[in-house]
Amino acid sequence: MKANYIEHIGIAVKNIDEAKKYYEEVLGLQCYNTEIVADQKVKTAFFKVGETKIELLEATSNESPIAKFINKRGEGIHHIAFAVDDTNAALKHAEDKGIRTIDKTARKGAEGLNIGFLHPKSTKGVLTELCS
Ligand code: ZN
Repeated sequence: MKANYIEHIGIAVKNIDEAKKYYEEVLGLQCYNTEIVADQKVKTAFFKVGETKIELLEATSNESPIAKFINKRGEGIHHIAFAVDDTNAALKHAEDKGIRTIDKTARKGAEGLNIGFLHPKSTKGVLTELCS
């Protein structure tokens, strides 16, 4: 596996509409897409910054992993996503290297990407997403 570039940085926020103002008014970025990912019980908003994106994540339910994250650690960086050629092959490769994976095989994430997560306990504390 090779991480080609940082596809996006996922940031957990309590309220996307509120958080958007910072990215738009202070950083001068523009939100080009918002999407509900029912599977993960989140609402997302995307901003492009060069090749990378910022993905704001707001929980749509108390059961959402984002709600749990914010309750435990507050708002902030939730995960880093690396673009790979093939998510399934990358997950398998990580597993072969002894990394604990959250997903055994890729699932559909926001923007139609095939995504899979590596467990932060195996990655020096950073929830890592692989996507293609
Ligand atoms: Zn993500």
